[in-house]
Amino acid sequence: FFFSLFLCSEELRRWFLQQEMDLFRYRFSQLTDNLMQKFLEHVNLSFEGVSEELKTELENELCASTPGFSLPKVKEQMFYKVGLADAVDLFRTRRVFIKDGFAYVPFKEMDAIVLNNYRTKLSKALALTARSLPSIQSDERLQPLLKHLSHSYVGPDYSIQKNTGKISLEQIDALSVKSFPLCMRQLHRALRDTHHLRHGGRMQYGLFLKGIGLTLEQALEFWKKEFIRGKVDADKFDKGYAYSIRHNYGKEGKRTDYTPYSCMKIIMSNPPSQGDYHGCPFRHSDPELLKQKLQSYKIPPSGITQILDLVKGMHYQLACQKYFELTHEVDDIGFSLNHPNQYFTESQKLLTGGREPKKELSNSGNSQQKNNSQESMNSNSTPTSSNTTADTELEGLEAYFTED
Ligand code: SF4
Repeated sequence: FFFSLFLCSEELRRWFLQQEMDLFRYRFSQLTDNLMQKFLEHVNLSFEGVSEELKTELENELCASTPGFSLPKVKEQMFYKVGLADAVDLFRTRRVFIKDGFAYVPFKEMDAIVLNNYRTKLSKALALTARSLPSIQSDERLQPLLKHLSHSYVGPDYSIQKNTGKISLEQIDALSVKSFPLCMRQLHRALRDTHHLRHGGRMQYGLFLKGIGLTLEQALEFWKKEFIRGKVDADKFDKGYAYSIRHNYGKEGKRTDYTPYSCMKIIMSNPPSQGDYHGCPFRHSDPELLKQKLQSYKIPPSGITQILDLVKGMHYQLACQKYFELTHEVDDIGFSLNHPNQYFTESQKLLTGGREPKKELSNSGNSQQKNNSQESMNSNSTPTSSNTTADTELEGLEAYFTED
């Protein structure tokens, strides 16, 4: 409630809604089946489960109308009868069987219902609190907070360069294809093609390169080599551009050791103009151009559709996560993306064996994990302790659904 008071513009409100939705989606996805069930009951979203007899009677229809479901899977999964008003998205995209005014929703799709419900409640709450804004805005003590809230980032700042000096300049072209997020891949390509980047691009890309481990000497060599291929001669580079590179490394001016930009900063501030290549392509590119770019990077059409849907819903970081999954051929990215350097680090971990690919873990793996947790809950000889675990897991999550 406190933060929502500070959302004075439509864009900030959307940003806040997006953060809350992402957090909720993540927390909900971490629950075991048992806890999800408990949570649904707790927030009065308990829907009628389809009995085994009815499921057997309708198994052919359920199988035919639920994408990705075979008969054995229909038998194995729990289905719920959900009123059409709560399942609009699912039946509009033909993902569920409809009968007598009810959608027959498999358990794995229940998160869509819960998220929808949460979004509606939160939007309503935001609209109500926005009415209090005029009085809050007049308080100058709160204005700086309001201004900087949406740019805040509390994750690692990637200024501590464990890898400093471990990357050679010759590796950068290959790394830009394999391990750079789209924003940095775009900047690198533009730099190679035009032999120049404007200030916003040099800052965003230069600090990213610093974060992945380029030393100051390497950075000077890298930028100089590229710029002198274009319209800038060596002398002009030394006089005009070398200073700001040294500045980024804390060797000039106030000697601040600047940190690479987070996704939030890139998405929310300094949008690119004509001739700029910085920014977040998922946020700042025209969807048609983004589509062409993804096609040229050999992203499969179904993946492009998923990415564009996420972009349309303003889920830019999720679109980037999907891009990671598709380019690394994993089903589950396994982390929540907040920073371009995090993207790079995770990509390198995956490609160099620091982290196991998640492909085989996918749905069956997750359900295995969940089933194991469920089993241990069921077989737990001390129900009190099981409940305590459940309560701990759910702690705070119910608050998402508390009334305004
Ligand atoms: Fe870059 Fe972040 Fe946008 Fe991905 S979401 S392209 S890492 S700014």
